[in-house]
Amino acid sequence: MDLTSPVTELPKIGPIFEKKFEKLGIVTLENLFYHVPTRYLDYSLITTISKLHPDETATIHAKIVSLKNIYSKRGLKMQIGSVEDSTGKITVLWFNQPFLVKTLYPGRLVSLSGKIGFFGRKLCLTSPDYELMVEEDDPTTHTGRIVPIYPETAGLSSKWIRRKIKEAYVNSAITEFLPQNILDKFKLIDFKKAIKFVHFPESFEEAETGRRRLAFNELLSLELRSQIRKLNWKKNKVANKITIDRKLIESFIKSISFDLTNSQKKVIGEILENLKSEIPMNRLLEGDVGSGKTVVAAVAAFAAFTNGYQTVIMAPTQILASQHYKTFKALFSKFSVRISLITSDIKRRDLGRNDIFIGTHSLINGKIGFDTMSGTSKVGLVVIDEQHRFGVEQRKHLIKKSGTPHVLTMTATPIPRTVALAAYGDMDLSVLTDMPPGRLKVTTWVIPEQKRNGAYDWIRSQVSDLKSQAFIVCPLIEDSDAETLADVKSVTSEFINLQSIFSNLRLGLLHGRLKPSEKDKVLEDFKKGRIDILVTTPVVEVGIDIPNASVMVIEAAERFGLAQLHQLRGRVGRGRSKSYCLLFSNFHSGRAYTRLKAMEKTHSGFELSELDLKLRGPGEIFGTAQSGFPELKIAGWNNYELIKDAKNAAEEIIEDPVKFKVFKSKIKEDISN
Ligand code: ADP
Ligand code: MG
Repeated sequence: MDLTSPVTELPKIGPIFEKKFEKLGIVTLENLFYHVPTRYLDYSLITTISKLHPDETATIHAKIVSLKNIYSKRGLKMQIGSVEDSTGKITVLWFNQPFLVKTLYPGRLVSLSGKIGFFGRKLCLTSPDYELMVEEDDPTTHTGRIVPIYPETAGLSSKWIRRKIKEAYVNSAITEFLPQNILDKFKLIDFKKAIKFVHFPESFEEAETGRRRLAFNELLSLELRSQIRKLNWKKNKVANKITIDRKLIESFIKSISFDLTNSQKKVIGEILENLKSEIPMNRLLEGDVGSGKTVVAAVAAFAAFTNGYQTVIMAPTQILASQHYKTFKALFSKFSVRISLITSDIKRRDLGRNDIFIGTHSLINGKIGFDTMSGTSKVGLVVIDEQHRFGVEQRKHLIKKSGTPHVLTMTATPIPRTVALAAYGDMDLSVLTDMPPGRLKVTTWVIPEQKRNGAYDWIRSQVSDLKSQAFIVCPLIEDSDAETLADVKSVTSEFINLQSIFSNLRLGLLHGRLKPSEKDKVLEDFKKGRIDILVTTPVVEVGIDIPNASVMVIEAAERFGLAQLHQLRGRVGRGRSKSYCLLFSNFHSGRAYTRLKAMEKTHSGFELSELDLKLRGPGEIFGTAQSGFPELKIAGWNNYELIKDAKNAAEEIIEDPVKFKVFKSKIKEDISN
């Protein structure tokens, strides 16, 4: 057997266990070896009965003297008895494992690991892990060493997994695949040794060094894959080549009502550099909420326009698409740019001649052709806004449909640079590091339940006395990207509840299940000041711009990721008045509370997302796996040093055809784009 062998080649693995393994993501022996423990139990102290102390965790090798099932007064089934070695005798006790008396009968030699406690006034081993032995010095797997505890699933216990890993380890050929100079340079231990150290460590240091090597492998393979994707992408040539007329572009930039920030200028420079190349751009533009990504995209679209090419802009929600439509209309009002908003209810096939298409994923819809007149794509640029809200497939689809365009992907999820480079290694990265001038910090408070009524009074006075407007955001009930009917129900009943609390104010209701026209109406009313308080699901999270709103209230705030809270908070503080964010939560301590408290102190999206990476892991920040943010099993996204090492190693390997050959065969997954 080797790493590629299916787990079914291990003894006693039939279809049932194969299925169970699959549940844990384990198909091959390699997967099995990468199934790393979540923690270890330190059973390495092997001692004798006379030396046992209360409260210590230890292992003894002893013979069963007696063991029987008894019932406690409360009907609990206990297995109680005693064991002895040459130094003495001790009581043993288990709960609810009546079958044990059949295995552990008098005279049986066992290795027992567990914590020493009391039974009455006598020392006792309670619920120890046990392992049968034939000889006194038999090697043990589940006791008498540092014992790994694995992620489990129904029917696959750690004990069982441990045994299978041992069988796999003993019976398979594991060879090093990294060249020695890379091992030396990045201080990595041998691969086979790493597997041994992770699953059969003799010390916690061993477990740690083993784990580091496996984590490195994981990151390296991720890096290699994205670098190969990048190389493949670069083999393409754009269908519609753009030439940059600096003067024209300058004239457009001059027409904008504000001056660009330095980082907007820098990023525009990077984009124009890509646009004039025959190699299609594949760039990720990262910028905190409100950093001004839209206008950067507009400059790029203008460059395409001056060459007679179209730009397609995809936004995750109808609301945001309509807003972009208005923004672009205004930005291009002095130029004869034809812009059209594609809505999901559009029926027509032929959209006529247009320069900019703005829409949601309905743009992908087969019925919509960007230019049916000429038959060939006139699309020069595709812009994907809030990319983390789209699935990988949706993005690919739009790009493919547009021919071979330049692609600008934008996100307000402020991922630390190292992470962005690793996770989206196939894209070039631009970051908007500074904010437009004059932005005020949004004062943020975490509000415990008992202060709710006071908070409502305060909101009421903000809205009526200061003529300000407020958002009240209710979380989605289930963890799902789309709103369910249950979510609509719950936000609707909260809306009714709030109507009686704020009876003298005008309330509006917004959720994802409204028709596009209804959503537009509600938002328009809110924007025009005809609604005082907008009660909504997190659909407002992305992009919405209501300058007069100065209060953001978030219900059950602990259910959101920090990056998402930051996004929501970014909906206020856009106008001139002092703005506030109120986070309601029932949590008064612990991790959830710490996270929320960070919102009070920190106003940088980058810092918050770093914190969330540490506290909650990437899944929570970046949404579901389908958004394409890679999931790591072993390495952590906050392990910047190792991420950088893996990236450097990948670059070294890619540059060397001999080294690279070894890997090409290893990376079998689809790396085409
Ligand atoms: P985001 O990066 O979150 O998409 P937007 O592009 O929506 O941000 O910009 C947020 C607001 O800031 C908009 O009202 C926009 O007009 C304004 N804005 C963008 N750039 C500047 C700038 N350089 N100076 C002043 N205001 C700006
Ligand atoms: Mg935006």
